[in-house]
Amino acid sequence: MKEKTFDTKNLINGLALGISKPGFSSADDFSTTITQLLDVNSIHCESALDIIDSINKKLKCLASNSDPLESIRLSAFVEDMEKISLLSKKIDPQYLTVGSIEKSSNFITTWFESRGLELGPSKLRVVEFFPKPFDTAGFAAMAYTSDDSKDHGIEPGVALLKSKVSPLLSIFYLAHEAVHVALGKIEAPYLACGIEEGIADYVACCIVSELFGEKLVSDLIVNLRFRTGGGSIRQLYRESLVRTFSIVAILGERFLFDKLRYCNKNGRKSIRALEDPNLIEQERNSIHQVEKLPKFVSSVLSRSFVYNISLDDYVICKELRIGEKNTSAAKRLNISKELIEETLASINNKLFFCVSSNGKVLRNECPMLCKSGQLRYNPATYSVLPSKS
Ligand SMILES: [Zn+2]
Repeated sequence: MKEKTFDTKNLINGLALGISKPGFSSADDFSTTITQLLDVNSIHCESALDIIDSINKKLKCLASNSDPLESIRLSAFVEDMEKISLLSKKIDPQYLTVGSIEKSSNFITTWFESRGLELGPSKLRVVEFFPKPFDTAGFAAMAYTSDDSKDHGIEPGVALLKSKVSPLLSIFYLAHEAVHVALGKIEAPYLACGIEEGIADYVACCIVSELFGEKLVSDLIVNLRFRTGGGSIRQLYRESLVRTFSIVAILGERFLFDKLRYCNKNGRKSIRALEDPNLIEQERNSIHQVEKLPKFVSSVLSRSFVYNISLDDYVICKELRIGEKNTSAAKRLNISKELIEETLASINNKLFFCVSSNGKVLRNECPMLCKSGQLRYNPATYSVLPSKS
């Protein structure tokens, strides 16, 4: 019997995180909007490739049968969906099945052991519900330490929520949570928080890049952590990530893994000490040789977070040509002049990436920024757009 593939929304979400230079700001919002736009429940395919193919066709059909404004809006989704389709054909098919998640837990455990990191009697598992009192937590994955075992009788290890398992991402989460388990192996009065989140992401990047390559992981980590919404929690993860990757860039990966091994045997205290910037400065003096950095380090450190704009601004700003009058652009794109003027005003007010005067675009950095994947659209804005044509 063929192995079962992921729930359709989770399938798109996971694969979307692995694509290079997407237009969207959030893979999660992208997959939500796609499933709302198309009747995905009517797709009855067994394999992930066929599901993606069917979605791709439906979306293109919708875009070509829409009015000009809707069509230009949907073109952003079509472009990203095509990248997802290409990626799905490149990935080893075994990773497009639900069974691949639990299977990868052996690889993760072995990886930790090979780095001298003990996970102890912990289990990496997929569950229907998180154990009490964490059954209402909104996470996709959780780590349980010896403290949870003592306080709540929970078996130590990592649990992934079955309803949220998705390709690429779930393996990343398993590896991320396993870091918390390794650091919490020895009981200590410190929480798994702050910079430890960035360290867990770094180690997860190292592990997942051995399965999927550094290039894909560079895209995954940026697409996962550098996106809109989510409030302070998302900001906290992002800041921890940037701080950790900066530590690796300044002090080297060896420094980080020595720290991890030490804490694995002695508790988290010296991970918490990394919160002190003075310590980084002191350690810097003892480093003599700079190591070659993994690709995902430079990918994260060169990423802009704030270049996120609405869908209309995104699809319009990248089409505006220098020297062209707003009225001519409106005619060429078959949309209203007012919509073009709104986009110019909005980008100018927020990001200063274009200049217009007397109804004409004089400068426009947006096409280049869209192409490089820095400027991104918020997919969630699609559902609330009024028809302006
Ligand atoms: Zn974490």
